[in-house]
Amino acid sequence: MKLNMEQLEEAERVMEHEFDDPDAIACELVALRGFVRDIMACWPDGDVDGGHLQDVAVHHGLLRPETRTEPCGDACACVEYGDFPATCYRRDYMTPNKN
Ligand SMILES: [Zn+2]
Repeated sequence: MKLNMEQLEEAERVMEHEFDDPDAIACELVALRGFVRDIMACWPDGDVDGGHLQDVAVHHGLLRPETRTEPCGDACACVEYGDFPATCYRRDYMTPNKN
């Protein structure tokens, strides 16, 4: 596998921010590989709908459901659901752009 320039820049950002915690990088890699494996299981014949994508992401720890009694903020998707308490799915993977 050869990385393109955008991927190399992302790898550089990850290493800059997370290099001091290689165990965390390994855990994230395991979670991401499991997620990719499960999502790619439907390829080439199936589709991935949003609910399945969310379920698989929760299963692999990439999304963390939280019960919220009010919106997290104006930019959060839970604002659109409007009926609280609601489950808000928070990104739980390590990237410099987390949440
Ligand atoms: Zn929210």
